[in-house]
Amino acid sequence: MSKPILGIIGGGQLGSMLAVAANKLEIKTVIFCDDIDAPAQSFSNGFVYGEYNDQTKIDEFLDKVDVVTYEFENIPYETLHEINKIKPVLPKPSVNRIIQHRLAEKDFINNLNIRTTRYVSIEKKSEMESVEDFLPGLLKTLTLGYDGKGQYPIKSLQSLDTIDIDYSKGYILEKLVKLKKEISIIITRFSAQKYEIYEPIENFHEDQILRNSKIPAEISDKILEQSKLWATQISEELKYVGTLCVEFFIDRNDNLYVNEIAPRVHNSGHLTINAYNVSQFENHVRAVCKLEQIPLKKISNAKMTNIIGDQIENYRNKEYTENEFFFDYLKKEIKNKRKMGHLTTLIS
Ligand code: ADP
Ligand code: MG
Repeated sequence: MSKPILGIIGGGQLGSMLAVAANKLEIKTVIFCDDIDAPAQSFSNGFVYGEYNDQTKIDEFLDKVDVVTYEFENIPYETLHEINKIKPVLPKPSVNRIIQHRLAEKDFINNLNIRTTRYVSIEKKSEMESVEDFLPGLLKTLTLGYDGKGQYPIKSLQSLDTIDIDYSKGYILEKLVKLKKEISIIITRFSAQKYEIYEPIENFHEDQILRNSKIPAEISDKILEQSKLWATQISEELKYVGTLCVEFFIDRNDNLYVNEIAPRVHNSGHLTINAYNVSQFENHVRAVCKLEQIPLKKISNAKMTNIIGDQIENYRNKEYTENEFFFDYLKKEIKNKRKMGHLTTLIS
């Protein structure tokens, strides 16, 4: 059987790294992106530039590919659903319908008897009058949030008067967890009960943006097993195909919570490129293109640092040792808080 041509919706750093992984497997890729400067076009075999609701552009893209995947979860469900009628979309669109909506996502997780933070839906301002129980908390938009965007810390009911919030968007209010640590699990599911799962990754955030990740995570065996089990249950329940990330909180009493699910390759998994025999990106391509599943082997412990905003300029001029791997996302414009690249260091 000849190898499929992989269509990737989204052309940022995740799309780039997927395309690079596909190249290595001799899988051709076509990127579809609404940014004419999309970095991933440099690594792909084809590029279609267009808005995600432009039917002519979607058709042009679909003509060129055999299977479709995506690098970010905020593509409208309807779009993915329509595409799926013409070419298979993996992971399947119904996964996105659940996960791109914070309330549906949390309800889904709780229905599996997996712990999340405590939360309440907020549809209008008056509902904020009776939420004392959930404070201090974080008010998050139901959809389209990432890197802490669309989040408002709420300390007390009094503090609400000082924040300007457009309640018509729909929100979830989450009780703030007293964090000891954050970890994530990256898992690639190929088919029923067929997985490759990476060891838990420990993550450090600042201002709700991921700064550093490392393996091994310094956690108890109990949390290690629990987090792997929950990630496996989630991906199985979703009948997921491809790479998925589950983000977890650990509180000061060593309770584990699922924070959120990312139905895609994930920033915390970038270190898998250098620290494992098969990266999260390669595994995603293997799963969605139905290639062979290869048992994971760790090559080394590692840490990864995100390079944000104008920090990138220092890194571009540095020299690196053989244990350091610098990735420049080749984004045209440097923006404050924008992820511009990362550095992975292999450690013993
Ligand atoms: P995003 O979609 O922007 O990644 P998250 O819900 O993962 O949104 O929030 C980003 C970060 O903000 C988390 O990784 C964590 O550091 C912090 N955070 C979010 N929700 C909570 C919470 N309920 N309690 C404590 N910290 C939180
Ligand atoms: Mg997150």
